[in-house]
Amino acid sequence: MAKYIVLLGPPGVGKGTQAKVLAEEIGLLQVSSGDLFRENLKNETELGKLAKSYMDKGELVPDDVTIAMIRERISRPDCKDGAILDGFPRTPAQAEALDTMLASLNSRVAVVPYISAEESVLVERISGRWTCRASGHIYHEKFSPPKQAGICDIDGSELYQRADDRAETVVNRIHVYLTQTAPLVDHYRKCGKLVEIDGAQPVEKVTEELLSDMKKLLNR
Ligand code: AMP
Repeated sequence: MAKYIVLLGPPGVGKGTQAKVLAEEIGLLQVSSGDLFRENLKNETELGKLAKSYMDKGELVPDDVTIAMIRERISRPDCKDGAILDGFPRTPAQAEALDTMLASLNSRVAVVPYISAEESVLVERISGRWTCRASGHIYHEKFSPPKQAGICDIDGSELYQRADDRAETVVNRIHVYLTQTAPLVDHYRKCGKLVEIDGAQPVEKVTEELLSDMKKLLNR
């Protein structure tokens, strides 16, 4: 059966960074709803224009368009073995829609790694974050700086600070997470799918725990 992994956690906890490593190690594609919206924004599509007004404020893009975007993405052939979902679902309605989508593909959510951290850690992580313009590689000015300031180590492209990573928006993103997304932690815990990992640990330690838990659970 295809393996769908839902990566859950507050903004800034390192989901994107960890999803990239997991994708490589487990051999599944990373599907990031935030990256898909940013791609639409860059290409100035109708969806991108709609999403921008929400993203700039740190609000969630409405469920119907988000669900349709993910449904289209995971129905493509490169997701036939499953995917690592990073940033989706973010509301109970999205979680329900995901179950329906996967059931229609004769599959289901396999496991939900939940990376947790205190609010003070999140603000520090997000406000020092720099992203590569070409492929979204992520750096942190204190915890994982690039070799040369402002330039991606991997593909030499420019690093930029996401508009929604600025202090005013970060506070709202955390609030939105706590009110709309945090209930999913309990939902997946009740389903017996949740594996909690302490996201305040160094990045490599989080990766190590994630990988060892994933390997055990996916081979069940
Ligand atoms: P991220 O890169 O995951 O932090 O997402 C950046 C922004 O994209 C969020 O603050 C939302 O505005 C939007 N977004 C990403 N994923 C979702 C989702 N599942 N539901 C609604 N909005 C989303």
